[in-house]
Amino acid sequence: MNPILLDGKKLSEKLFTRLKDNFGEKSKEYKLIILTVGDDPASKVYVKNKIRACNMIGIQHEHIIVDENIEQQNFIDLLIKLMEDNPKNTGIILQLPAPPILAEIFDKVIDGKFGVDGFDFTNKSLLYTDGEPFYYPATPKGIILLLKNHNIEIEGKHVVIIGRSDIVGKPLANIMLRENATVTVCHSKTQNLNDITRTADILIAAVGKPKFINETYIKDGVTIIDVGINRTENGLCGDVDFDRVVSKCHAITPVPGGVGPMTVYSLIENILSTSIYNNLE
Ligand code: NAD
Repeated sequence: MNPILLDGKKLSEKLFTRLKDNFGEKSKEYKLIILTVGDDPASKVYVKNKIRACNMIGIQHEHIIVDENIEQQNFIDLLIKLMEDNPKNTGIILQLPAPPILAEIFDKVIDGKFGVDGFDFTNKSLLYTDGEPFYYPATPKGIILLLKNHNIEIEGKHVVIIGRSDIVGKPLANIMLRENATVTVCHSKTQNLNDITRTADILIAAVGKPKFINETYIKDGVTIIDVGINRTENGLCGDVDFDRVVSKCHAITPVPGGVGPMTVYSLIENILSTSIYNNLE
């Protein structure tokens, strides 16, 4: 089998170019505000990538570092003020990891129109109840774009997602249902995991365990989306043991260069309020 490499780096570069051509100077009317709490080294990398993407397209940006000991009421006041002062064309995100209580406050207080990462309660409620969210969460959206741009059919397929997090597994399961897939969500308490994953037409790993998925978890002809980003002593790797599975796959994402760049692209698309399906070839 000669598998298709789902190259998110290449695709996102192409889509970024198109976005830039479409928006031109108009992108300067849009702004991203990124809040970070404390001093997490991984989140610095994520912030840097997002700011670089904003600069590439010409979107304004502001990075606000919040004291990790901030009073809850002060955090609420800050969010309200940001929404009052930046009413138009502004997205506000809280870069994770953040203290869970602040993340919960953020998701409750942020108006859905500002919630460009789609994690706030308004956008989540709309997604989970067949509504039309203002924004789809960036990673699931990036995965859909990656599949569709490579003509991988979703409708009627069995999509198995490993991981039930709020930022990947749960929203992705809902979006896949909208795409008419048959969806199974597995997690740390799932029994006989590889009996289930071996029935997947599309297998999506969002576990956070290096090279967790090998050839014993898949059937021939599967499409694998590896969401995992794991820092090991041998460098960055995904949740999938690429070398052990690749020859059995119809298509597979690399790590790095698969889902990661598509996530950043999808966030930028959200800030510019373009629809999830605008950028299909
Ligand atoms: P998380 O860390 O919040 O949760 C991990 C999930 O894996 C849980 O739902 C848990 O039940 C499941 N799990 C753990 N052990 C398991 C096991 N043995 N069998 C089955 N399921 C198991 O997940 P997350 O925040 O979605 O992150 C997952 C990975 O994806 C991480 O490596 C993260 O860095 C990466 N990530 C990448 C992107 C991207 O843009 N590429 C975006 C978000 C997250």
